[in-house]
Amino acid sequence: MSKHFLEEDSKAIRDITVIGAGPVGMSAAFWAGMREASVRVIDSLPEIGGQLTTLYPEKWIFDVPGHPRVLAKDLVAQLREQAIDQFHVPVHLDTTAKRVTWEDDPENPEGQLVVLHTDEGELRSRAVIVAGGHGAFEPKRLPGFDMTPWEGRGAHYLVGEKHVFQDQRVMIIGGGDSAFDWVLNLLDTAEQITLVHRRDGFRAHEATVAQVLAEVEKGRVQLRTPHEIAAVHGDSEIEQVTLRNVEDQSESIEEIDAILLQLGFKTALGPLKEWGFNVEKGALVVDHQMHTTLDRIWACGDITTFDGKLKLIATGFAEAATAVAQAVHTIRPDTKIQPKYSTNTGVPGSVEGQA
Ligand SMILES: Cc1cc2nc3c(=O)[nH]c(=O)nc-3n(C[C@H](O)[C@H](O)[C@H](O)COP(=O)(O)OP(=O)(O)OC[C@H]3O[C@@H](n4cnc5c(N)ncnc54)[C@H](O)[C@@H]3O)c2cc1C
Repeated sequence: MSKHFLEEDSKAIRDITVIGAGPVGMSAAFWAGMREASVRVIDSLPEIGGQLTTLYPEKWIFDVPGHPRVLAKDLVAQLREQAIDQFHVPVHLDTTAKRVTWEDDPENPEGQLVVLHTDEGELRSRAVIVAGGHGAFEPKRLPGFDMTPWEGRGAHYLVGEKHVFQDQRVMIIGGGDSAFDWVLNLLDTAEQITLVHRRDGFRAHEATVAQVLAEVEKGRVQLRTPHEIAAVHGDSEIEQVTLRNVEDQSESIEEIDAILLQLGFKTALGPLKEWGFNVEKGALVVDHQMHTTLDRIWACGDITTFDGKLKLIATGFAEAATAVAQAVHTIRPDTKIQPKYSTNTGVPGSVEGQA
């Protein structure tokens, strides 16, 4: 998505701003498109897909109706095609919503604009839909070693596409499920895999640990425990890593092309907590119309709570349809809440000014 397109979008007033590019946020963008409402999406992460991209891109999902089974990353790709590409929706990544205010709508004396104050500037829309999951995701950093200078030069926290590790010597850091899952997932892609953990014990699922240890036996995976990163070397990209044995402090050098840090993710409602929502057990209380307690702000997906709430992709999709219907009806009261059937309308395409 070009910088110019996003800069132009930042200046525009959209009907809806969706916070969160997880499956439910993308579904909200889709429904906005179907209702001929202009929309943008923001996410604090550098990739779309929310939990599906960050936590389980290579896992099969079996309970999304219409898909007997679908890989999480493939569902994200299909949502991108259906919601983002089809309606030319601007997606502002690496952008976190910090604060909200309201102001008069210059084009409508009876209307109000919601102003989202993000770490990348202000975004204005007539409604906001919060599809923020468990809150803004942030990868946990390596304790005791600053990896920031190597980010973008071979150090990764997320795997959008496995092929970035094609034929590379990859060092995976961590002792939990995601580190172990990635060892197995990259066996057919990476040239060499080294798993590094500070302790001898692992938190990952027993069966996965057994599978990885079998690969260590076969010599397909190198295991370095109890080790930690002492230094990273390279010119423009990572070339070598100095590992330190945390028990005897001895050091060794490994030739490496990429480091994949899998130390987990911190999620927190964070800034959203201060906005004045009714928050219960870390989630936003909504009514049966998916309306929050704040004017012109609806919510859907994992971030909501109400009596009978299910935290599932399928139910999140339905909540998104409801939230968008209500938002569009509030912005344009002559719009019916019930959408017309797509079998009759087809897909309207992107609204004027958005493409
Ligand atoms: C291992 C695992 C397996 C699962 N398997 C299944 C399954 O088989 N079937 C199923 O139905 N569900 C499954 N789930 C649950 C499913 O992933 C969630 O229900 C779904 O991801 C919720 O989607 P969402 O869009 O509401 O939130 P998320 O996917 O969490 O996306 C929310 C997005 O909002 C962004 N965000 C939050 N706050 C801000 C902010 N202030 N500014 C900018 N961006 C923000 C976050 O960065 C994130 O990208 C699984 C979950 C896990 C962890």
